[in-house]
Amino acid sequence: MIRFDHVTFQYEKAFTPALSDIDLEIKENEFVAIVGHNGSGKSTLAKHVNGLLLPTQGTVTVCGMQTSDEDNILRIRQNVGMAFQNPDNQLVTTVVEEDVAFGPENLGVAPDEIRIRVDDALASVGMTDFATSAVHHLSGGQKQRIAIAGILALKPRILVLDEASAMLDPSGRAELLETVHKLHREGMTILMVTQYMEETTGCDRIVVMKGGKVVLDDTPKEVFKHTDILMESNLVPPETVSVRNALRSIGYALSDSVLTAELLAEEVCPLL
Ligand code: ADP
Ligand code: MG
Repeated sequence: MIRFDHVTFQYEKAFTPALSDIDLEIKENEFVAIVGHNGSGKSTLAKHVNGLLLPTQGTVTVCGMQTSDEDNILRIRQNVGMAFQNPDNQLVTTVVEEDVAFGPENLGVAPDEIRIRVDDALASVGMTDFATSAVHHLSGGQKQRIAIAGILALKPRILVLDEASAMLDPSGRAELLETVHKLHREGMTILMVTQYMEETTGCDRIVVMKGGKVVLDDTPKEVFKHTDILMESNLVPPETVSVRNALRSIGYALSDSVLTAELLAEEVCPLL
């Protein structure tokens, strides 16, 4: 679905590259998390997926189309939905269902079809009951789900989230993550940039970035074995992994699969 081939990107010729020789492949219906310290290149990478930025060297291919070919950009953008940090910047009207309809209306989709798409999109993000609500009455998490409904109404195959949970409170973050997992189960390909390591434990793969390079690209189980590389990248593993490691260091044989609180409890209880 997405392929980075030796991608290097410089914002200005004199600058150090924001991305250096990135090779990355994301298959259909994979759920990939991108993590890394501030300035490691996550947003720059995300913006390459829909051709907002074009590689200085190398190629990015999305759904079989190269982003460097101008003729492909419109079709690539129809396939890639992007959600950003601030939900308020992504909502354009005052009523929920009007906001979700805004994108398809601009594309000239027929009114009957728009009604179906809006209803489907609101159902997908669990916001059907809020269809006629005022946008400004919603919580941050609800607004972010409406922003995602607006993206879904455009029927993309890929959803890119760039720290979309960063401005939300813990319950808003949980709502959003649950919604993203649901979309993944329904077949969407997901690329999720996040600063919250505990959000990554349920993903198929985690890509760890440092200084514009990929330093780890593996399953959560494998990535969280490399506490040293995570620390060097200024990343703190999820608390459950830290507890697991601390218990191991005093002799408890916990497995590498212990990534979530539930799995930790499952392995700790028999030991008690
Ligand atoms: P992240 O999203 O991981 O915090 P970014 O992709 O935003 O990282 O930034 C990667 C590098 O590119 C950083 O060194 C940052 O300062 C630089 N950078 C980001 N945006 C711009 C820009 N518009 N112009 C110049 N440099 C930029
Ligand atoms: Mg960023």
